[in-house]
Amino acid sequence: MKQSQSEKLFAEALRFIPGGVNSPVRAFRAVGGQPFFVNRAQGAHLWDVDGNEFIDYVCTWGPAILGHAHPKIISAVKAAADHGTSFGVPNPQEVTMAKLICSLVPGVQKVRMTNSGTEACMSAIRLARGFTGRDKIVKFDGCYHGHADSLLVKAGSGALTFGHPDSAGVPAAFTQHTIVLPFNDVDAVTAAVEANKNQIAGIIVEPVPGNAGLYLPQPGYLEFLREITQANGALLIFDEVMTGFRLAPGGAQERFGITPDLMCFGKIIGGGLPVGAFGGRADIMDLLAPLGPVYQAGTLSGNPLAMAAGIAALEELNIGKDARTARPTDGPAGRPYQHLEQLGAQLEAGMKDAAKSAGIPVTFNRCGSMFCAYFTSGPVHHLADAMKSDRARFAKFFHGMLARGVYLAPSQFEAGFLSTAHTAADIDSTVKAAASVMRGW
Ligand SMILES: *Cc1c(COP(=O)(O)O)cnc(C)c1O
Repeated sequence: MKQSQSEKLFAEALRFIPGGVNSPVRAFRAVGGQPFFVNRAQGAHLWDVDGNEFIDYVCTWGPAILGHAHPKIISAVKAAADHGTSFGVPNPQEVTMAKLICSLVPGVQKVRMTNSGTEACMSAIRLARGFTGRDKIVKFDGCYHGHADSLLVKAGSGALTFGHPDSAGVPAAFTQHTIVLPFNDVDAVTAAVEANKNQIAGIIVEPVPGNAGLYLPQPGYLEFLREITQANGALLIFDEVMTGFRLAPGGAQERFGITPDLMCFGKIIGGGLPVGAFGGRADIMDLLAPLGPVYQAGTLSGNPLAMAAGIAALEELNIGKDARTARPTDGPAGRPYQHLEQLGAQLEAGMKDAAKSAGIPVTFNRCGSMFCAYFTSGPVHHLADAMKSDRARFAKFFHGMLARGVYLAPSQFEAGFLSTAHTAADIDSTVKAAASVMRGW
């Protein structure tokens, strides 16, 4: 059989890039087969180098909440590029971006930009330790906070897919201060805090964990984390790299009404360019260099192209509000989020229906525009539940959908994403594809 362009490119990539990819989940190892190469994306659709078209539910792993190649983002990046790609001195867009984040996210009084979500989480942890003078960190199994050493313990995402929650090359001494607990388990946190009195610097959590598929905090759980950290002089750190600006303009903290002390961002705030950020209480953030003793830096942090793309994305998401002041205008406030919620509800109802009529046990978890279909009768509230999913069945489902022009994340342990560019017709054809795949079993 004639080799496709994607196959040719992957064969070449394998010779020069480890595994042929620059981030492991892209390699399709969890589902088998080979990745396709894309050279064009528009709205909710991707085109591979062989001309195949896909409805995309990966959305570049979260950032593309407005769909691909949004005209406002593209023109903002072009305009910024005309003035230079990096200055190494402060630029005005950094101020605009900081004001935007502070005005949109309830818990952010000050914010610093980084180049990735990994850097943001790593820096937030260092800051929490510097602020409290304590070493220990609590994280939850299945939660992914980037690939920094001390956080790569029972992490989700690629680390989970490949069955190596603990990476080689991380000295045990680097993770000895990381306490890993099951999510949604109040007693486990209470016991850990009791056993480590005055030693826990902070609890870092994805408020809606999206790196082991997707499961939601049970009612009262985030409130409990807020209370127990406050009562014990520890900081509550929300990793909103995925949920920030997605579940609401102010992220999960707005949606659930909990204000953490520190929080991490990435993905959406870069409009598709490499970005991260961390922010929170001013008294904590002011401990960062040059004001304070906690060191953190970045040659390209606050990059003008990334700022321009991110500002355009945030402004577009907040049409109906003057984003810089967060004051409502006469426009249709909240419209993008309403649209995402409607699409999410349509997808959820359709997928549940398709699974039911095919007689396949599926637990469909959803929060706004994030979703995951687990092949288990469920419910799925934490990692141990998620691990019950039938992964062979997922792989079959994934390839069946791909053959029908629907691109889902190539692993059971990733969240799916909707964008404002998806249409009811896209969802409809996706549901029909799912019904057809499962009917064939
Ligand atoms: C993606 C992600 C990260 C890491 O961000 P990168 O930009 O890939 O380094 C951290 N935390 C969460 C919750 C994420 O989803």
